[in-house]
Amino acid sequence: MAGAELMDFDKALELFEPVLGFEVHVELNTKTKMFCGCANEFGSGANTNTCPTCLGLPGGLPQVNEKAIESSIRLGLALGCGIAETSRFARKNYFYPDTAKNFQTSQYDEPIAHDGSVTIELESGREVTVLIERAHMEEDAGKLTHVGGAAGRIQGADYSLVDYNRGGVPLVEIVTRMIEGAEADAPEIGRTYVRAIRDIVKALGVSNARMEEGNVRCDANVSLRPRGSGTLGTRTETKNVNSLRSVERAVRYEIQRQAAILAAGGTITQETRHWHEDTGTTSAGRPKSDADDYRYFPEPDLVPVAPSREWVEELRGTLPEQPSVRRKRLAADWGFTALEFQDVENADLLDEVEATVAAGATAAAARKWWTGEIARLANASNVPAGTLVSPAHVAELAGLVEAGTLTDRLARQVLEGVIAGEGRPQEVVDARGLAVVSDDGALIAAIDEALAAQPDVLAKIRDGKVQAAGAVIGAVMKAMRGQADAARVRELVLERAAQ
Ligand SMILES: [Zn+2]
Repeated sequence: MAGAELMDFDKALELFEPVLGFEVHVELNTKTKMFCGCANEFGSGANTNTCPTCLGLPGGLPQVNEKAIESSIRLGLALGCGIAETSRFARKNYFYPDTAKNFQTSQYDEPIAHDGSVTIELESGREVTVLIERAHMEEDAGKLTHVGGAAGRIQGADYSLVDYNRGGVPLVEIVTRMIEGAEADAPEIGRTYVRAIRDIVKALGVSNARMEEGNVRCDANVSLRPRGSGTLGTRTETKNVNSLRSVERAVRYEIQRQAAILAAGGTITQETRHWHEDTGTTSAGRPKSDADDYRYFPEPDLVPVAPSREWVEELRGTLPEQPSVRRKRLAADWGFTALEFQDVENADLLDEVEATVAAGATAAAARKWWTGEIARLANASNVPAGTLVSPAHVAELAGLVEAGTLTDRLARQVLEGVIAGEGRPQEVVDARGLAVVSDDGALIAAIDEALAAQPDVLAKIRDGKVQAAGAVIGAVMKAMRGQADAARVRELVLERAAQ
């Protein structure tokens, strides 16, 4: 796909003011679907988690999943929203091949949660408060697989397969109000806002919050208006962006693409756009007017949801520490520099470092292992670092280094053994015989041998040329296969040479 013409980002900002809006879909991790008893499970055999209700067969009758309501209320509260005294489901009518019912059960004018806000902090320290218009409940669609076309796209496909397992899985859609004044921070605001939502749903435990599995998906609305103009520009909606980095890239791309069109005297089409991870570009989807007529009407098979005030207050009492508060607390506890903390955060390793510290490691050691060797190994095998090794094992490894049982080099070998499934760090040390040789007797024997083999070096050391000891230390370390503490070897070499 040929990329569109783009304007330089800084130039685009000189001419235009970006206006943003985000719709984030959060897939709830309830055991069953929103309106039926089918399992809500990722990775089951195609079309195995289906029933007459979620397939929209005649006679199928929906029933609301109470846990989904509870999760939606908790999420609404965590977003600072008001919880409606009554809220209603509505049918959103359209034909989509991945929705067997030919309508989506959603909420329209009576959402469960409304009017909240999320304050995010950018890397520059700038704080931005994003206003939430609403958070409403709805159901997910099934999944289409296009076979035969390029990169799984429908264009050029020979045929398409549909899996209805995801159809009817509970979603909460969080809709922001317009975000103005973003300026050059617009791409970072997109990434940081979606991360904040992801962190909130993760802390609440209402979603698995794995963006790579589509548990959290973002639609990014971007429009530009000429500087000094009071009129909003036409917006595009880039759909289903499912990584933090991609949100940032998609916003930046749309700003640059729209600026080039507008500056050349063209007009922006109000439409949905597809995000292409491989090329970092967007392409036209379907035209979308504000007046899209989905013929919403109240769902006749479901009663309104009217959560009692007591229940809402009880749920408020279950809210965890806000992620933004937690971040500040951790930053203070750990004593990292701002840059070190951002490293951990950008690598998405806050949970891992926190758990490793809780398991007994120092914050510095926990950070070093997770953002260093473990991140490197995770990168190489393209898996999240947190899936490679447990925080308890990292803490144990760090403890062995601190106690002098392992050098850093040996510890890296032990880590490989732990990841390979050879057991806990201490078990790997024992099985592979990797511990530092701390037995002075063995070290002295090796030192005496090395000194005897290099009499010229011995003479230099005795002359006070202590630097010469390096050659002997190297020989001893080699004889010990690296399993000795170099500082201790140096001490002993000087001692023996003096005798
Ligand atoms: Zn079902």
